[in-house]
Amino acid sequence: MSGTILGCIADDFTGATDIAGLLARSGVRVSLRIGVPNTQPNDTSAFEVIALKSRTAPVQEAIDETRAALAWLQDAGARRFFWKYCSTFDSTEEGNIGPVAEALMEDLGTDQTIYCPAFPENGRSIFMGNLFVGQQPLAESPMKDHPLTPMRDSNLMRLLAPQVQGQVGLIDRLTVAQGAQALQDALVQHRAEGIAHVVVDAVANSDLVTIATACRDMSLMTGGSAVAMPLPALYLADGLLSEDAPKQPRHRIPKATIVLSGSCSAMTNAQVASYIATGAPSYQLDPLTLANHGTQDVLDWLAKQDLAQAPLIYATADPASVKAAQARIGVAEVGALIENTLADCATAARDAGARRIIVAGGETSGAVTKALGVAQLDIGTEIAPGIPWTYCISDGAQIALALKSGNFGREDFFTDAQAKLDSR
Ligand code: ADP
Repeated sequence: MSGTILGCIADDFTGATDIAGLLARSGVRVSLRIGVPNTQPNDTSAFEVIALKSRTAPVQEAIDETRAALAWLQDAGARRFFWKYCSTFDSTEEGNIGPVAEALMEDLGTDQTIYCPAFPENGRSIFMGNLFVGQQPLAESPMKDHPLTPMRDSNLMRLLAPQVQGQVGLIDRLTVAQGAQALQDALVQHRAEGIAHVVVDAVANSDLVTIATACRDMSLMTGGSAVAMPLPALYLADGLLSEDAPKQPRHRIPKATIVLSGSCSAMTNAQVASYIATGAPSYQLDPLTLANHGTQDVLDWLAKQDLAQAPLIYATADPASVKAAQARIGVAEVGALIENTLADCATAARDAGARRIIVAGGETSGAVTKALGVAQLDIGTEIAPGIPWTYCISDGAQIALALKSGNFGREDFFTDAQAKLDSR
């Protein structure tokens, strides 16, 4: 078995499944660990991804956690590392993208890294160091109003500079368009000028291949998930990854399914409506009823379901209903109430035999995986960009889990996910 070749550290959970899913497009086994494992590495994969929850954590906490993740990945044998953050560069003036990158560089003894959050397939591109979301500059996109990390500048050098000690520079599209050698030459030139943090333009998938080709032997690359996508093929061509490296697992998972939705995004609302329209059995959680009467009603309903029909339990609601519930119960309280309820439903469904669990919502996914006692996931078939099926063991049972964050997936996601597992 080949050891770990690339160690990835992601600053949030669905970001980790995103990069893991893109690496798994290669067919090679990819493992995702939830948090830094507290055991020594064993049974590691060629590609290891550690999911942290550090995007908006205090800077020092984010640095400490990331350093611990790096040390674990080094123990697993990795010599190349990827620091994965959001393709909209979600961060504040204090961090955490820059400070974490500098801490990783220090531990790795390297004096240069690249920053490439571009993900052209999902409408994220960088030109002249400016990040675009679709056709809008980042600072004019909905990200300008993000509750935790409002992005009020589109220029990545200006965003990064206050976050780091070292010098920030750019390699623009005109150089990237000249190919990998030109990009490598430009990196050498920047290094000679003392530029440690290099933003690299990318507007198309072909740019990402050029960047990955030029940077594949750097000890640290940083970016969104997409620039990591070409790495498995490059490692294979370099002979770093062997043709017989362990492949993605192909488990046969019994059909008993539960669908749990705690996301209230516009897309999840449409997905829930579309799934109910197929005639699937469904139960809507009402926050006030839950607050007053607890979870017995929904657990009784669940106990009566035929899991072969893939019933849905959802709290998904429109923005007005969410606001009303938050006003009555409290924002954090109602969030936790629903997350805990859906987590209880997940364990009850598993105990009743459910072996396929589909979850909508980033926070909700975190609560469900925690309740299921999942520490490691193997990445399987891709359902949609950024959302793979994953396999894990929960209470001794082999389970397939699909974890979807808010706006990901098409309207028919819940049926599509089930079909993708059957058609492998
Ligand atoms: P997303 O990925 O769309 O952001 P999350 O699961 O991360 O989804 O966040 C959704 C949050 O909204 C969770 O904390 C969830 O418990 C909460 N929530 C879900 N349904 C309701 C509702 N009807 N009223 C209020 N809050 C809700």
